Amino acid sequence: MSFLKSSAVPLAISVLTAVTVLSCSQTNETTQTSAVTTGSEAPSATAKPASTTASLPEATVDPASIPAHKIADAATILSRKQVPILCYHQVREWRPKDSENARSYIMPVQVFKDQIKMLADSGYHSISPDQLYAYLTTGAPLPEKPVMITFDDGDLEQYELAAPELEKHGFKAAFFIMTASIGRRGYQHYMDKQQIKDLADRGHTIGCHTWDHHNVKKYQGQDWVTQIEEPTKKLEAITGKPVRHFAYPFGLWNHEATVELKKRGYLSAYQLAEKKRDEENPLLSVRRIIASGYWSPKTLHNSIKNSFK
Ligand SMILES: [Zn+2]
Repeated sequence: MSFLKSSAVPLAISVLTAVTVLSCSQTNETTQTSAVTTGSEAPSATAKPASTTASLPEATVDPASIPAHKIADAATILSRKQVPILCYHQVREWRPKDSENARSYIMPVQVFKDQIKMLADSGYHSISPDQLYAYLTTGAPLPEKPVMITFDDGDLEQYELAAPELEKHGFKAAFFIMTASIGRRGYQHYMDKQQIKDLADRGHTIGCHTWDHHNVKKYQGQDWVTQIEEPTKKLEAITGKPVRHFAYPFGLWNHEATVELKKRGYLSAYQLAEKKRDEENPLLSVRRIIASGYWSPKTLHNSIKNSFK
């Protein structure tokens, strides 16, 4: 596999350093393990399917327990109003070496705080990937003005800075972790296992973002084990919770990837930007926008309104 460098998809700064020292080790693990265990590892306290799924309190909805016959078809899912979903990466001051392009997705601390405050002041309520899934599949109700806040890669400042800032406003987020970098210290620092577990314990969602950020469109055979199955198991071991949500590196995906993720028990997967969703597997190609480090709160607000109609 060759590491993708595409100027059109500016999402790799935090991983350029990571992947250069890694090679893709492969194992003989058999497939499907995570798909089999995902559902059965759901916490026993979560609700069993009720006669009317939509009446379940949001906090107790266990999406993996929604019976197949209650899940809407793809056309219905595509027809539902999209929830705004924001994608963040690094939250730190710009450095002289950061390119103009990189600065569009590196959030200076005050810019980040102002954007999150705008969401709170505007009456937005954060929702989890599990809630989004229940809404899209069954029409389960969402809070007023829902928004999903997501972070990719597992950068340390997401734990040290972003999560406390979100919690100040009562928000929860989804963190998509690239497992090759867990605990790494260097030009860019990454969360360690305890910090990832702590986020999960505090009610945030931990999702998978591959092992070392290779483009899923290039996977063959064993790559699905190395990049998806093993990282999933690792994150489940760290958090003690099922990992059911995935973010595509660089936002890049294709139909085959949606099929492969679904086969492995993934309930939702997140792309970026303006690309159309997959007609067969819209849940595995959910749209997000990157909140830019150049954006004022007002620009973010306008982007949310324009991108998720
Ligand atoms: Zn990424």
